[in-house]
Amino acid sequence: MKILEYTFEKTTEYLNKEFNKGKFHAAGICREIFKNGNINISEAKEFDNSKELAAKVMRRISINPGTIHNIECEVNTTKYITKLNDGLKVESVLVPMNNYTTLCVSSQAGCRFGCIFCETGKKGFSRNLSTEEIVGQLYNARFMLKNSSIKNIVFMGMGEPLDNTENVIKAVKIISDQRCFNIARKNITISTIGIPDQIEKLISDLNPVPNLALSLNSAVNSIRSKIMPINKKHDLNDLKTVLLSYPLRSSSAILIEYVLMSGINDSYDDAMELIEFVKPFKVRVNIIPYNENSCANISSPSYDKVKEFSKWLADESVFVRMRTRKGSGLMAACGQLGKNFKGSRQPPA
Ligand code: SAH
Ligand code: SF4
Repeated sequence: MKILEYTFEKTTEYLNKEFNKGKFHAAGICREIFKNGNINISEAKEFDNSKELAAKVMRRISINPGTIHNIECEVNTTKYITKLNDGLKVESVLVPMNNYTTLCVSSQAGCRFGCIFCETGKKGFSRNLSTEEIVGQLYNARFMLKNSSIKNIVFMGMGEPLDNTENVIKAVKIISDQRCFNIARKNITISTIGIPDQIEKLISDLNPVPNLALSLNSAVNSIRSKIMPINKKHDLNDLKTVLLSYPLRSSSAILIEYVLMSGINDSYDDAMELIEFVKPFKVRVNIIPYNENSCANISSPSYDKVKEFSKWLADESVFVRMRTRKGSGLMAACGQLGKNFKGSRQPPA
């Protein structure tokens, strides 16, 4: 019983089938493990009169979130590397906000989509993370790093969440389960390169849906195809159709991530195309200055350019935020993962 892959309901079903027990004991197990980080479930009051049962259940439970291999504290953020059972390493980032912390998790070891500006993409793909390995990043942050203020989860670490949709959906169910980690879906964001049928799967399997962030980076098909090869398969029109069907809550919007790259997607015309693309949606646009890395020969825009580009959008009443300082902010912190990662390049699906 890999307990980090079990919702409260699944734990109840398991107890019912194997031990003829139910919700009462499941509540004790979930509380000890997910809320207290205590694997000794016999300490739960529900097992006060059934220590033998507790011992039997405990022998069935396994927890393998991976071990924290390294912790790096940067200006505002803490990045930690988890070593998985097979020796692969994945990165997660803790970003403190005003009153709470956002945890940025990885969904794959590497990524196979090869966006030309992205460090993770450059290093290639090793494998999907299991649900346990995804949920394990939160478990470790809460109980190994003892961070009790995590209220937001963003899938903006290594990998493409919608290339591992099944495990990501299961992880979201456990993270948002009130008896487990209890992080509301409205505080969970899935960032994607934009794979229409997988966005449809999110919509059909998760009700309510989590927030969606789209790495757009250009609203011109020819440019987007050059910097993000996926666009040759699923272009902007396909994306538009599926985004229109995304069931947004009244208070939320689709987050559009736009990495601004000098001379590539930062002209006035690019801004006008972006405005046109987002017109039918409720969106928040994040302008992220390209962070120079070991990838292609791309340069960051100047601060003035980022400001000017953002103003073009704001002047047309687009809700826009700009990330100005390199290395700061959520996207800058999460989008740069994978420098120490080695995988093999495979062509996109
Ligand atoms: N694969 C998903 C989830 C990873 S999120 C996705 O692409 O959305 C990683 C984010 O970091 C993406 O929004 C990506 O556009 C951004 N990013 C990648 N390389 C970057 C760079 N060099 N500078 C700034 N942002 C970058
Ligand atoms: Fe993969 Fe996202 Fe990087 Fe593209 S931007 S290579 S999809 S992690």
